[in-house]
Amino acid sequence: MWDSYGLTQYSVKTGSFVEDSRGRWYVCLVVDSPQQDKPTAIQAIGIDLGLKDIATCSDGTVISNPKFYRKYEQKLGIAQRAKNKNRVRALHAKIANCRKDHLHKASTMLVKNNALIVVGDLSAQKLVKTKMAKSVLDTGFSALKTMLKYKCENAGVMFEEVNERFTTQTCSSCLRVSNNSPKGRAGLRIRVWKCECGSVNQRDLTSSKNILALGHKRLAVGITVLSGR
Ligand SMILES: [Zn+2]
Repeated sequence: MWDSYGLTQYSVKTGSFVEDSRGRWYVCLVVDSPQQDKPTAIQAIGIDLGLKDIATCSDGTVISNPKFYRKYEQKLGIAQRAKNKNRVRALHAKIANCRKDHLHKASTMLVKNNALIVVGDLSAQKLVKTKMAKSVLDTGFSALKTMLKYKCENAGVMFEEVNERFTTQTCSSCLRVSNNSPKGRAGLRIRVWKCECGSVNQRDLTSSKNILALGHKRLAVGITVLSGR
């Protein structure tokens, strides 16, 4: 074995050989990971996971959603018509790798900069049933959520999942469900709306702020229960 990763510094526990769809072989080794440093970040953020942007954060950070599939769609079509199976497989692998890389970078950045991360419980399954199926499958926001969850665990960052019903409809200033807020599928196009209280809500940002508030609320309840013992 050519040990370019410096694996000798770890104690290897188990391992297995894996072949990918392109017929390439990999060896996967299980090792003890070194102790992580204590998190130094103190911020808390709520994240609205979505389609247009993969994540809109309550601090204003937006993680875009590059359409990797659409980028390679034409090349895929050419390869498919030419019945070039190897090329098709290679392109699919390339798309999957681009997507994974993007999500890993985003999740690592979010976990590094925060002490508490709150996300909504939006299920990808629910959205796949609608017309947006293709773009839902392309964003992989459920993959982002999974990455956030295990990276938070590893880094000692708190991770909360809250019921995100009404988070797009509630004004983040007065906390009321406004008559002007977007409702149901017809409301999906509404990106900005003005509440009766006068504040202008940007759909995804408002949602992420409400998600963060719900996370804080849940944690506060948890603390009350503990101190009551
Ligand atoms: Zn309001």
